Amino acid sequence: MAQGDSIIVVENFIRGAFVDNGENDLQFIDSYEPATGQIWAKIPDSGDEEVSKAVVAAKNAFPRWSSFSAQDRADYLTKIADLIEQRLEQFAEAESRDSGKPVALAKAMDIPRAILNFRFFASAIQHYTSTSNFDDKAGALNYVYRSPVGVAGLISPWNLPLYLLTFKIAPALAAGCTIVAKPSEMTSVTAWMLCKVFQDVGLPAGVVNMVFGYGTKVGEAIVRHPDVPVVSFTGSTPVGHRITQVSAPYCKKLSLELGGKNAAIIFDDAPLDAVIPGCVRSSFTNQGEVCLCSSRIFVQRGIYEEFLQKFVEATKEYKVGVPSDPTVNMGALISEQHKEKVQGFIRLAEAEGGIISCGGADTPETIPESHKQGYFLPPTILTNVSDQSSCMQDEIFGPVTCVVPFDNEEEVVDRANGVKYGLCAVVWTKDLARTHRLAQRLQVGTVWANCWLVRDLNMPFGGSKASGVGREGCKESLDFFTESRTVCIKL
Ligand code: NAD
Repeated sequence: MAQGDSIIVVENFIRGAFVDNGENDLQFIDSYEPATGQIWAKIPDSGDEEVSKAVVAAKNAFPRWSSFSAQDRADYLTKIADLIEQRLEQFAEAESRDSGKPVALAKAMDIPRAILNFRFFASAIQHYTSTSNFDDKAGALNYVYRSPVGVAGLISPWNLPLYLLTFKIAPALAAGCTIVAKPSEMTSVTAWMLCKVFQDVGLPAGVVNMVFGYGTKVGEAIVRHPDVPVVSFTGSTPVGHRITQVSAPYCKKLSLELGGKNAAIIFDDAPLDAVIPGCVRSSFTNQGEVCLCSSRIFVQRGIYEEFLQKFVEATKEYKVGVPSDPTVNMGALISEQHKEKVQGFIRLAEAEGGIISCGGADTPETIPESHKQGYFLPPTILTNVSDQSSCMQDEIFGPVTCVVPFDNEEEVVDRANGVKYGLCAVVWTKDLARTHRLAQRLQVGTVWANCWLVRDLNMPFGGSKASGVGREGCKESLDFFTESRTVCIKL
């Protein structure tokens, strides 16, 4: 591992070793610290050659790793979890500097979840049993044998860097696959630190290989590599489309976890004292840069004004600031370009007659001089927007949410479903029968009622419509990283 005086120099991790960037004269990609706007890490700008080496390493490691017992693989996963836990502070600080999120959030959510991913799948693989059936007509015993698919290509985004990457690495390893992974070029540092953990626990060389760089180079090289039969991707819908096209000639197994435009629906019987903090969290956690964030809040007309007033008050209390400050709720957005994109949505909404009820497109005045170059925006509430407007249809992926009134259940279900995405929805009501009715009709992968982001890893997770193909979760991920083979024995 190479670390310069102040700038971190990330290196690829192939066949159990960090590869000196000078070896292939690799150029670097500058990785900016969102809170300061300064370069803080250099990422190798890898390409086909590095991916090919990584795939060869993973392919060579596959026969041995896949022949380990589930218990042996689980032991490695547990050791990995333990070591990340010992280094939780370092991981959380790096995650915060890399992505702009508050360090307190990284400590409470991102890194603990990465640890849980390894612990969970260490256990899950030991309870992953196959099915059998005796066909009494044919007099034959059938059973399903599941074998790991091979080298898994894993590609992850910048918003929850270690959290999402390890939600792919852990089940792939547990299932017996070997891996070529690529984190986002904007947030590669914790993935690189994870490679050191793999080395330190003695994970056999080549079982996990990490290649850093751009999606169009490294990502596509993984997707089109003929020796990578399974690809798990989390990221934007346009890139999901591209991966589908590029992988099409190879008949790969694909899992696509894509974008969202999620509705929260608040009925007039819902307890506002729980709804308000719930909506603030679901709209602005991680600067609104969670695929599951609510960005369309439908409020039943009778409580609309009261809700809006209380929601605005609570949002104004949501503190934006320097991510290392343990009292802040929100840090900086991932990049200058992304900040400009989010600002563009706010300005367009305003130009179209929308009202900025709170926040806006300007950098908050409270940001200290030392961080004025950072990519900060305040939590923003838009009202008076039409369902067809861009801010109600497109994924903004920032701290912006729209609040609109509705009259009845029938209407709100149609309006909530009236976008191309289908990731999740939140329903706030005391009426259980209504909750079940909505749960059946909302075209999404997850419906939360009276809560948000409560995740049971046993449950399938994913999106419908433009939000993705496939599901991740206990059984779903293990099924994805294995092939089933039906064995039929005539008795
Ligand atoms: P992105 O699609 O731009 O990039 C995601 C990853 O794909 C990165 O590692 C990137 O380098 C790589 N990539 C880019 N182009 C590629 C290509 N042509 N071939 C292969 N790989 C390529 O997404 P992002 O901006 O990093 O993340 C934000 C998006 O991710 C949002 O749309 C958000 O909703 C989505 N997301 C979805 C989920 C989910 O579970 N559904 C979770 C988190 C984020």
